[in-house]
Amino acid sequence: MSDKLLCDFCGTEISNDSEFCTKCGTIFIDDVSCFNHSDVEAKGVCAICHQAYCKRCGLRINGIFLCNEHSHYEIYEGMARVFGSSDAQKVNLYKSDLEQSNLHPFIYERKASPISLGGDDYTLFRASGDSGGHIINEIKLMVPCSEVLQAEKIIDELDQSTPETT
Ligand SMILES: [Zn+2]
Ligand SMILES: [Zn+2]
Ligand SMILES: [Zn+2]
Repeated sequence: MSDKLLCDFCGTEISNDSEFCTKCGTIFIDDVSCFNHSDVEAKGVCAICHQAYCKRCGLRINGIFLCNEHSHYEIYEGMARVFGSSDAQKVNLYKSDLEQSNLHPFIYERKASPISLGGDDYTLFRASGDSGGHIINEIKLMVPCSEVLQAEKIIDELDQSTPETT
């Protein structure tokens, strides 16, 4: 017997005592109840906060289960956007700060024009309710879903220590 299994939903390798897939949030054990509703069966584990939620409290987006609170993140191949700016220097600065905290940031620069909106490329990203035109040339700082909460805390602190205007 191997001690590794593959998640039958996303194919990620997981140890056979895992209760859920950390990548996509699929639950492998029975009788897990929703974090909000102790009498309702959970449908998945949020990839960001790792709490189990029922189908009313969470949903699957691009194959990854997220709770309602975290479903606004843009997710791309298991990475979630934690920061975005058209200022490449700032994005790179934040990236190196996250790396120093042993996170695994990744910069995604989407080459898109307004014409391609709605095309295949665009559907990879949810617009996250932020429909302003500025999103188009945004350089995105992504981290693995499980590092989102940590990364946001670091970015928040950086934002506070470097005010835009003095
Ligand atoms: Zn999975
Ligand atoms: Zn969550
Ligand atoms: Zn629920």
